[in-house]
Amino acid sequence: MKLGSFVIDGATFNAGAAAPGLHVVATPIGNLGDVTLRALKTLAGADAVAAEDTRHTGRMLAAYSITATLIRYDEHGAADQRPKILERLENGQSVALVSDAGTPLISDPGYRLVREARDSGALVHAVPGASAAIAALSVSGLPSDAFHFAGFLPAKAAGRRTALEALSGIKATLVLYEAPHRLSAMLADAAAVLGDREAAVARELTKRFETVARGRLSALAEAFESVKGEIVVLVAPPSGLAPIADVDAALRDALASMGASQAAAMVAEATGVPRKTLYRRALSLKDDGGG
Ligand code: SAM
Repeated sequence: MKLGSFVIDGATFNAGAAAPGLHVVATPIGNLGDVTLRALKTLAGADAVAAEDTRHTGRMLAAYSITATLIRYDEHGAADQRPKILERLENGQSVALVSDAGTPLISDPGYRLVREARDSGALVHAVPGASAAIAALSVSGLPSDAFHFAGFLPAKAAGRRTALEALSGIKATLVLYEAPHRLSAMLADAAAVLGDREAAVARELTKRFETVARGRLSALAEAFESVKGEIVVLVAPPSGLAPIADVDAALRDALASMGASQAAAMVAEATGVPRKTLYRRALSLKDDGGG
């Protein structure tokens, strides 16, 4: 049994021993101040801390002068590590599970461990805190009464479009994680498959360069052609806006009897897609011989 301690601004606190069982502990998503007192107590008082990246977690623990027995629990080594952690739990030890940032299991490892720990009769304790999905939803300005978290979409365009189609009928704000180099393509695909819905891009939450941009998917796709940092994408529920395939059909119809500028204005009025985007699209449809 470990009696640990932690230090905040030079003041030392005794943590006591963590209760036996698996503690699923949320850690900050950027700002180190976003760790909870219970998280610090649990991490300092646990017999072992199972971490996705022991060096990364080691730095977080060092910021609070916590000494811990760190064991690795990442996607690759999980199958080998799980029995060892379950054995510790069976022996009455306390193990804290953390990921690199935010809440374990939320697009992070831990699901099988929690399931098998429960199945084995071990106690599983929640030590909640930050999660980028919830932080983003809380500041996005999009409807928050119902939301659907879908994590990362497939990296390749075909898989991504299929996944978006499966999400298209859900009457809730969609919450997605995305890598910066795929953001623009993902937003453009979302506009094409879901219709040009209102959306938000929440970047670097709780960090120095935190920003939240809101707009139509197509406009955000253009605005974020080159971007860095950590990103949550939120897409408003369906509002009856036409998917891009329908927009193309409407543009072609309009181009049969008017110029690109007038066609763009008319279809913008009908669909809510920005006129500038439609004008460019109308010109390329004309080039393809569509108008
Ligand atoms: N378990 C974490 C949680 O609860 O938020 C998420 C882990 S997932 C592997 C990492 C992704 O979360 C990033 O690629 C990004 O999409 C999102 N994310 C994490 N920190 C963020 C932040 N500070 N601002 C915006 N998005 C963030």
